[in-house]
Amino acid sequence: MTEGRYANIIVDISHEKVDRPFQYKIPEALRGKISPGMCVMMPFGKGNRLRTGYVIEVTDKAEFPDEKQKEIAEIIKSGISVEADAIRLAAWMKETYGSTMIAALKTVLPVKRAMKLKEKKKLVRLLSVEETRSLLGESQRKHQRARARVLEELCREPVLPYELVTGKLNVSPSALRSLQEQGVLSIESESFYRNPVKIDSQRESGRDLSDQQAAIRDKVLGDFDRGERKTYLVHGITGSGKTEVYLSLIDGMIRRGKQCIVLIPEIALTYQTLLRFYKRFGDRVSVMNSTLSAGEKFDQCERAKRGELDVIIGPRSALFVPFPNLGMIVMDEEHETSYKSETMPRYHARETAEHLAGLKNASLVLGSATPSLEAYHRAKQGKYELFTLTRRLTGGELAHVSIIDLREELRSGNRSIFSRKLQELIEERRSTGEQTMLFLNRRGYAGFVSCRSCGYVMKCPHCDVSLSQHMGNRMVCHYCGYEIPMPGACPSCGSPYLLGFKAGTEQIEQQLYKRFPGIRVLRMDGDTTRTKDSYEKILGAFSGGEADVLVGTQMIVKGHDFPNVTLVGVLAADLSLNDSNYRSGERTFQLLAQAAGRAGRGVKPGKVVIQTYRPDHYSILRAAEQNYEAFYEEEILYRKLGGYPPAAHMMAVLISAFDEKRGEALGARLSKIAGEDVQVIGPAKASIGKINDIYRYVIYCKAIDYRQLTVVKDKIEAYLQPLALRQESVQFDFDPIDSY
Ligand code: ADP
Ligand code: ZN
Ligand code: ZN
Repeated sequence: MTEGRYANIIVDISHEKVDRPFQYKIPEALRGKISPGMCVMMPFGKGNRLRTGYVIEVTDKAEFPDEKQKEIAEIIKSGISVEADAIRLAAWMKETYGSTMIAALKTVLPVKRAMKLKEKKKLVRLLSVEETRSLLGESQRKHQRARARVLEELCREPVLPYELVTGKLNVSPSALRSLQEQGVLSIESESFYRNPVKIDSQRESGRDLSDQQAAIRDKVLGDFDRGERKTYLVHGITGSGKTEVYLSLIDGMIRRGKQCIVLIPEIALTYQTLLRFYKRFGDRVSVMNSTLSAGEKFDQCERAKRGELDVIIGPRSALFVPFPNLGMIVMDEEHETSYKSETMPRYHARETAEHLAGLKNASLVLGSATPSLEAYHRAKQGKYELFTLTRRLTGGELAHVSIIDLREELRSGNRSIFSRKLQELIEERRSTGEQTMLFLNRRGYAGFVSCRSCGYVMKCPHCDVSLSQHMGNRMVCHYCGYEIPMPGACPSCGSPYLLGFKAGTEQIEQQLYKRFPGIRVLRMDGDTTRTKDSYEKILGAFSGGEADVLVGTQMIVKGHDFPNVTLVGVLAADLSLNDSNYRSGERTFQLLAQAAGRAGRGVKPGKVVIQTYRPDHYSILRAAEQNYEAFYEEEILYRKLGGYPPAAHMMAVLISAFDEKRGEALGARLSKIAGEDVQVIGPAKASIGKINDIYRYVIYCKAIDYRQLTVVKDKIEAYLQPLALRQESVQFDFDPIDSY
């Protein structure tokens, strides 16, 4: 608890007012007793009426002279509410990730302003059927057609939906009002919550758990009942029964009157997954994701607050659904990079979930087939409790994996992007009617356009990157969306020989048609999945057997089961190793292990072909063996040697500037400030030095202890504050996932 003399307070939590905190003096008697998240009473506005407010910060810095400050009146003891928890969480995020309090608050309070509940109106018959029928006869004689239509329906049904009558029966509201005035019917309305889930299915109870699964359930729930709150890591390959364990744990929580948050990466949040939760828990489950309207989001929060929901499923933002009685957070696929926010505050859902679980006295269960180094490291240190599921419950052997050295292929005269082995196996699948998935590491890879005469590379005029060639002779910048048609001649030397080096998914598709005449191909990448349902549509078509081959980027290696896929080809496995990023080995291992896990999910055995220029890299070898443990041991050694997370911590300081010189100068000053306390690398031009005409610089700070980095962050903020820079901005990214 800070011994500050002032408190910054948000007066009203009706969220549009969050924009502006007000400062109050903390009276002598309350000093040291006030902390962020507390609910207090204080005089507000001209009339000094007492209002409730939430403390978001306690500070020693007065925003205006003492004599002008009003004082907090009292602390409200019962004010420990859902909102208070959210504010405490925001205060922690601000401190841990370096953002403004407002940005943190906007993140944890999911809906900006209260939305009106939707209303449903209905007509209720007040007379008996006989009375209604006689009125109907009368209306028919008088040729009151509209009136007759309503009465006729009312003879059949005592209650009618309002929309049906005004819509399909085409009866005017005024005609209805006169029936209402005559006491024939009443118009009633009820408000209801928008429910984004439109699943209506039979409930199913859980399966009998295997011994391994039951052991996890019993331990976690047993700990819970003993009052022990921990973080658990469930390590098990896809199909080993992790989800079934989550379901039984959630079931246990619901029986204890507790609520659960289930985090699933947006891309894995398929209809199939939802259906499984729905079958088990019915309509006390809901979702929270980016496709919901603001009203739908608001309603899910309301349902959660009132205890009308037991389970919410969604990507990282589902963490902020306000459950009053949270018992457990489940985080599936905890290694996914989408759990890290790319905007301020750049929080990681795993750490945030851990903190939230602490605030709410809840348990945290993480699951993955390829755990993040962070989680596994903590498990090894005994901070998390580790469980391993070793058997695949759907039957199905692990796939047979071959590594193909692409240098060998070239030496033997094969210039195609498909190795001989892969060609042979694709051909074989076509004759048996089985399916193939071809996976390319990255979208638009090497899609740059250059001049064959002088080597000039076409670049985006606003960003420091090359343009990528797309279908229809367009060139596109993947950073700002800038787009121009391919020029007829080289802008530098005038030569007409401009060439796109395309080895993206589009080119693979073209090559497939060429190499295997008549083959049916579906393609899934950023371009083919722009619209809302396209992702599920493509997967649906593929699982319905509408194609022999599915070509795609990372998105195809996640999610669905395709029992008929018996071959997975990884076209350039080492592409992700070329990133200048300390996580590239981990990412490569994860992608390959997941891709290998796609083959042979049904009864037929699967094969995996990994094509690479670096057949002896440990990430590739260990992934081919599906040996996580061995991979971890090699990778953690490298992290320890390099001083990288999780062996140490890093903070990236990002500087954006309109002016190149001023940006450089600011970088140099900040680097000096940071260098007084921690190890500093840079300032350097970011790997993309300019985006949208804004120059970018980065400083990396390294320290064993996370706290050392937040101290440096606070120091930089204190230095920047009085400067009130308008031409430059500075942001922080802790334990960054991407390189800058
Ligand atoms: P994961 O989440 O690890 O991929 P799932 O929980 O989805 O694994 O389980 C994989 C498959 O095995 C599913 O079809 C599931 O219904 C089935 N399964 C899981 N647990 C059991 C069990 N105890 N008995 C029978 N089948 C199970
Ligand atoms: Zn651009
Ligand atoms: Zn040229």
